[in-house]
Amino acid sequence: MTDLTAPPFSSRHIGPSESEQQRMLEAVGFESVADLVAVAVPEAIRAKDSLKLPAAIGEAEAIAELRALAGRNRVLTSMIGLGYYDTVTPAVIRRNLLENPGWYTAYTPYQPEISQGRLEALLNFQTVVSDLTGLPVAGASLLDEGTAAAEAMTLARRAGKSKSSVFVVDADALPQTKAVLATRAEPLGITLVEHSLDGELPECFGVLVQYPGASGRVRDFRAVAAAAHEAGALVVAAADLLALTLVAAPGELGADIAIGSSQRFGVSFGFGGPHAAYMSVREGLQRQLPGRLVGVSVDADGGPAYRLALQTREQHIRREKATSNICTAQVLLAVIAGMYAVYHGPEGLRRIAHRVHRYAVVLAGGLRRAGVEVVHDEFFDTVLARVPGRAAEVVAAAAERGVNLWQADADHVSVACDEKTGAAEIAKVWAAFGVPAADVNIDGDIEGASDALPHTLVRESDYLTHPVFHQHRSETAMLRYLRKLQDKDIALDRSMIPLGSCTMKLNATTEMEPITWPEFAAIHPYAPEEQAEGYRELIGTLEGWLAEVTGYDAVSIQPNAGSQGEFAGLLAIRAYHRANGQGERDVCLIPSSAHGTNAASAVMAGMRVVVVACDENGNVDLADLDAKIAKHRDALAAIMVTYPSTHGVYEETVTEICEKVHEAGGQVYVDGANLNALVGLAKPGAFGADVSHLNLHKTFCIPHGGGGPGVGPVAVRAHLADYLPGHPLRDGSPVGPVSAAPYGSAGILPISWAYVRMMGGEGLKAATEQAILSANYLARRLAPHYPVLYTGRGGLVAHECIIDLRQITKETGVTVDDVAKRLIDYGFHAPTMSFPVAGTLMIEPTESEDLGELDRFVDAMIAIRGEIAKVASGDYDKADNPLRNAPHTAAAVTADEWPHPYTRSEAAYPVPSLRDGKYWVPVRRIDQAYGDRNLVCSCPPLEAYED
Ligand SMILES: *Cc1c(COP(=O)(O)O)cnc(C)c1O
Repeated sequence: MTDLTAPPFSSRHIGPSESEQQRMLEAVGFESVADLVAVAVPEAIRAKDSLKLPAAIGEAEAIAELRALAGRNRVLTSMIGLGYYDTVTPAVIRRNLLENPGWYTAYTPYQPEISQGRLEALLNFQTVVSDLTGLPVAGASLLDEGTAAAEAMTLARRAGKSKSSVFVVDADALPQTKAVLATRAEPLGITLVEHSLDGELPECFGVLVQYPGASGRVRDFRAVAAAAHEAGALVVAAADLLALTLVAAPGELGADIAIGSSQRFGVSFGFGGPHAAYMSVREGLQRQLPGRLVGVSVDADGGPAYRLALQTREQHIRREKATSNICTAQVLLAVIAGMYAVYHGPEGLRRIAHRVHRYAVVLAGGLRRAGVEVVHDEFFDTVLARVPGRAAEVVAAAAERGVNLWQADADHVSVACDEKTGAAEIAKVWAAFGVPAADVNIDGDIEGASDALPHTLVRESDYLTHPVFHQHRSETAMLRYLRKLQDKDIALDRSMIPLGSCTMKLNATTEMEPITWPEFAAIHPYAPEEQAEGYRELIGTLEGWLAEVTGYDAVSIQPNAGSQGEFAGLLAIRAYHRANGQGERDVCLIPSSAHGTNAASAVMAGMRVVVVACDENGNVDLADLDAKIAKHRDALAAIMVTYPSTHGVYEETVTEICEKVHEAGGQVYVDGANLNALVGLAKPGAFGADVSHLNLHKTFCIPHGGGGPGVGPVAVRAHLADYLPGHPLRDGSPVGPVSAAPYGSAGILPISWAYVRMMGGEGLKAATEQAILSANYLARRLAPHYPVLYTGRGGLVAHECIIDLRQITKETGVTVDDVAKRLIDYGFHAPTMSFPVAGTLMIEPTESEDLGELDRFVDAMIAIRGEIAKVASGDYDKADNPLRNAPHTAAAVTADEWPHPYTRSEAAYPVPSLRDGKYWVPVRRIDQAYGDRNLVCSCPPLEAYED
């Protein structure tokens, strides 16, 4: 009989087939996966019951359920503004970039040679930001405008001369910016003072001006900047990029730092995110910049090549000395925003801005003619109308006509125009205000209107003069440009990306499809609740599922990266201690092997970091833990441990660690970034932890996007539930928001929802089991060639393994870098390099890779080991060998001169399988130091590419 049942989605998500799984089990020496797991995972942490999740459904059914949820969101025209504006994602960018796995499945460009495409795209973004803000150095994106403002605040504090602890925020700043600033200021002892910025400033170390303001007002802040500088304070401008195409750049007005959102450059609302925030700084502050920065350097052949600049500045690497915890940012969204500028060019952006502005002018004119008071004479896109006592009525009348406006208070309504605003929308808004239709001649008005921008602020400086913003105007040219860049990179659509701790698993097409549906993409974060019923149900359901998976009682999906989840979790711990009258507890114990964001987050939460040693097996050293607890007993706030450990081992002692810390009155934070080793098998909330963050962009299938977006939900036990992040425009919490939007990067939550829905409890558990089996299979196959550094019970690893090259390096001079770059010649992205142990590679295969791909990777590693042996034996020259010279470009191996003592085919085709579909790396090995000595962080002039 034929079985006509479709195979479950889990058999698509999980790479190895049953027979492949059997072969892998044999190689590892187990009869069944259950036997393997029984040995690998300590009994003490094993969950007793299976996950209580709805039974798995197929892909078509999941899409149907998501359609039904989407149908319960109502898409109105949102003219709410407040930092979020409707925009058109050019279709060529939507389909070929946003919906293209060649772009969205890429990893953070730490291996720059295989990341030249996305690095160029990010350099475009930096150039857009730098040009428009008039400040020379722009970073490659931050998480959102609110957190960018907070990063600017702390930057101003450490870079400024003032000893004051006051930061002044414009009363006309966005409400969510004020709220995120408040959350971040309090633990650091910063006093936030809201101020009109008219009249004298209080003594302060920094001032944030919103430009244009939340009320629409455009202010010339030169005098404010001069006064602030006089007092030794730094000036932060929170600026709208589209407005900056018409008004003077913040840098020209005296801002030291500019921040803001690039959302309206082609990125949908998504009910709040993800969107790329930006930051740019004046000369002299570049070493203080948080987040990542793309710069130009040279490769081994002297050609220009991009890579991340000033990496030692990346704060999370500096651990407890860190000043920011940002790691994952918003690369994919920054790339879209940059491409939006490439697509439109400076004239196109200016035209859009002009059109937006003119509609606002006409809107204001019509209101005034009808006797409605317009509060500001000078504005860009947002008109604030005074309608005493009638604001709610006007907003309701507009909603009836399909338009969302913003009720600023009982007497004021604000209306923000955007790229999509046309005569029809203006007519509806007027009607809502009761402007008689007979007075309306919008098209005529648009032509005749004069600008309502302050004449002192008319932009005179050029921007986007680089050829890249002029050459790709036809769709054909744009399509080919996107394709050309994509082709330069390795993403998951080419080969496995075995990055330990980063969980580069399948991002299934069905999971990705819903995110561009208008019912999910086109909802403003402050749309009335009843228009987002589908979203609220999806979010509530997902939070519930994540609580079940982790064994916690409450979950908030607001944090938009793991780092922000850590911060939120630590704030919850802090608030809990305070509520119990133990506000003096401020010591956070962190094992030496922890991810850098842990220590950085603790510092941001106002805690003192005390490092706990690890023993030679990579486990927390219990004797040292006892000593540190004894020393800091009364001040102990928390311990942050990663489980399984960052060494990829299930520590036997984790329950004991939890007990010791609890006994001393501390709370236990388990970093859940490695949840891919636990889902369905063990629950941190059940084995003794109080709080965790998860990374949906690791374990729950949100793609990495080349370094973001991400979602880092924070999950807590009941006693901490009251201290989850709140939001000023939704519900209150004593802690306040950690993200600008109430539900963070809500727009990508359908991905994780679909994953859990299609896997069900059994599928999720099977995925974890396969991830463990695959890691152990790799460890077993690699062990004869490379020492595997840490193992747990039965000589087994968890979901990743570390191979140790230190001895090899000592004996042969071949470094981890050489191996990583040589892997590129074999078509692979390197594993995680030198984390958590210098001189090692950490490999995480995930469950999604089939046996053929795992073997291809192992074969490459073994072949490379053979090459290393030839260096050791003298068969290869110590300095001139395929490892040291890797990676090899097509240009290098086809050059008329070949000066090397090994052959061209050894360079390019070291294993025969490469003859079918070879990936050609676009640049040779990149000189990191050169680029830091000669810092260039915007598009280089074309002469740089001349021979
Ligand atoms: C990835 C990771 C983080 C940080 O997550 P981001 O989303 O990049 O901020 C924290 N801890 C561990 C162990 C991680 O692997």
